[in-house]
Amino acid sequence: MNPNFLQTPIPYLKGVGPNRADTLGSELGIHTYLDLLHLFPNRHLDKTSYYKINQLQSSGADVQIVGKIVHIKTVEQKRGKRLVASFIDETGQMELVWFRGQKWIRENLKLNEPYVVFGRTTKYGSTFSMPHPEMELVSEHEKNLKVAMQPIYPSTEKLSAKGITNRVIGKMMQQLFLESGGKFPESLSSGIRDELKLISKSQALFNIHFPKSQELLAKARFRLKFEELFYVQLQLISKKLIRKHKIKGLPFETVGEHFNTFFTEHLPFELTNAQKRVIKEIRSDMGSNAQMNRLLQGDVGSGKTIVALMCMLLAMDNGFQSCLMAPTEILANQHYNGLKDLLGEMNVNISLLTGSTKKSERTLIHEQLENGELHILVGTHAVLEDKVQFHNLGLAVIDEQHRFGVAQRSKLWHKNEIPPHILVMTATPIPRTLAMSLYGDLDISIIDELPPGRKPIKTVHRFDNNRLKVFQFMKDEIKKGRQIYIVYPLIQESEALDYKDLMDGYESISRDFSPSDYQISIVHGKMKPKDKDYEMERFVKGETQLMVATTVIEVGVNVPNASVMVIESAERFGLSQLHQLRGRVGRGAEQSFCILMTGNKLSEDSKTRLQTMVRTNDGFDIAEVDLKLRGSGDLMGTQQSGLLNLKIADIVKDNQILKAARYHAIQLLKDDPNLKKEENQMILKAYTKMMKQSSIWNYIS
Ligand code: ADP
Ligand code: MG
Repeated sequence: MNPNFLQTPIPYLKGVGPNRADTLGSELGIHTYLDLLHLFPNRHLDKTSYYKINQLQSSGADVQIVGKIVHIKTVEQKRGKRLVASFIDETGQMELVWFRGQKWIRENLKLNEPYVVFGRTTKYGSTFSMPHPEMELVSEHEKNLKVAMQPIYPSTEKLSAKGITNRVIGKMMQQLFLESGGKFPESLSSGIRDELKLISKSQALFNIHFPKSQELLAKARFRLKFEELFYVQLQLISKKLIRKHKIKGLPFETVGEHFNTFFTEHLPFELTNAQKRVIKEIRSDMGSNAQMNRLLQGDVGSGKTIVALMCMLLAMDNGFQSCLMAPTEILANQHYNGLKDLLGEMNVNISLLTGSTKKSERTLIHEQLENGELHILVGTHAVLEDKVQFHNLGLAVIDEQHRFGVAQRSKLWHKNEIPPHILVMTATPIPRTLAMSLYGDLDISIIDELPPGRKPIKTVHRFDNNRLKVFQFMKDEIKKGRQIYIVYPLIQESEALDYKDLMDGYESISRDFSPSDYQISIVHGKMKPKDKDYEMERFVKGETQLMVATTVIEVGVNVPNASVMVIESAERFGLSQLHQLRGRVGRGAEQSFCILMTGNKLSEDSKTRLQTMVRTNDGFDIAEVDLKLRGSGDLMGTQQSGLLNLKIADIVKDNQILKAARYHAIQLLKDDPNLKKEENQMILKAYTKMMKQSSIWNYIS
């Protein structure tokens, strides 16, 4: 094959053309033959096997069923209409559901005729439903039974609208194999292939698209997953080696006056052992000659802030400035005030920089940063702006890192000639092995212990029809002097609807908690920062008893007197988000409560999430369940899904393959650090190409 064959632009492929090429590019990121070749099927439809409705077991299975539609109706619901068909076979009944394209479906579906439906099932109560099934009349289906294992490719609404159906993509793929002769360059050494009994690249690519049998499909998957993870690990590990050996770090050699004074005179409590251990780890890391890039994991309330402060004092003792970045203005404010309180009379110059900082103040901050008078800068991403120049930034702390994008992090690197030490703090715990593969070029510290004396939060699940009882409970707590959060979901795609939910909720609460007896704060994303802060401030000061909010309060807000967290439509939140929200209470001496409110209709996954919340307060436990439910795709919320840009492997489900990949990558670099050996040339070639095309999460560039 011509070595550049796979780089051929996609419009050249027979059957594609410029229009389809545009859509393939914008929807699936397919621009070249190679991109198409790497569009792996989500699954394969085994056209020879069928399920009966009474054989269905759990949500999320891909099944093919033969039956008839006996009834079809449109159901109005809060979030738009859906079309529901009642589908039966001789063993039972289930539902087929459409949210889109309802008109077309209604006009074209035939009642009481045998259909083969294929799709993924969901279980609501005792009824199974299948959203947007693929359907074929049995008579058609029998005619089409050519390939036993039909690949099902990723699809989008726009692709279907432009006529690029699964069948069309399948045809393109066939054409590609035809033009290429099905021979593709090998990219793993024969040593590794032999050891793991991997099939060749050409065989793997053929069988992932057009498997001859289940067994070959499994082999193809294994080989391609291994390869993908192997190259990710190779990148991460070599990056770490470069950072440790080639990039000079700022040596923080002394533990000086500020650190010591704070420790002996200002520390308001005894540090937990976990905090002590973590500070030690960070200290020795910053004291070495390499640049620190460390992830600090600790559950909500585990006391990460004080660790950050003590590290910043270390920086100061060594003559360096530091900054602490938070994802929201509310949180930056709170950090600023908290740190100022902790520092008390100490001679530390600290300022706050956010989007709302006044021009005159801003100018002063810029000046003091540049001449070195300012020791600690707390702020939002405003800190990253090019205008913000430091005299000598030595340490950058990022709180709740999943809110920051990759580009923003790398900006920090360039705030000093020698890159500053970086400490990333997160309250989203992830299991250590997983963290290593996700953040293979970071070191990890974990605070796995809460400060003493905390009462575990009591969590309950209540249905909407028990609302009056819940309101009564809230009133009783307020009578005892407590404060309460009521949180509404916020899902970005439908901001207007979320806003309406919040406002409806606010109104109903104002009706029940009359203004003569209760004061209510409200905070949401549509408010000006100034108004948000004002409302927040009233709650912090205890002037209001209730705080109605969207998830803006999720991150880091600290009001020890608030001891009840009510989460509305709790079924719409992810587990880690629920856990984060719950972490807002349980910070004071009083018993705290978390009340999860939901409607009656709950999916299996929602039930598991709610039960998990009720069962445990342990963030790592919750993270494990979350991973099992969601896979790794959503691990850290939207920002980082796609972080590694994996096409076929899943770092959670394929954890064993991941371990093997990591092991072999380490062995390879030990044996042949510069990939000079003859047998590793194909790896070097593939690696170099990959580095040129795309580099994964990158601190260095
Ligand atoms: P997070 O890790 O969620 O950021 P914070 O740093 O906000 O947690 O700490 C939560 C609360 O616990 C704060 O009020 C803090 O002052 C307090 N705290 C932190 N460490 C200790 C400790 N060792 N003993 C007692 N209280 C502590
Ligand atoms: Mg915090």
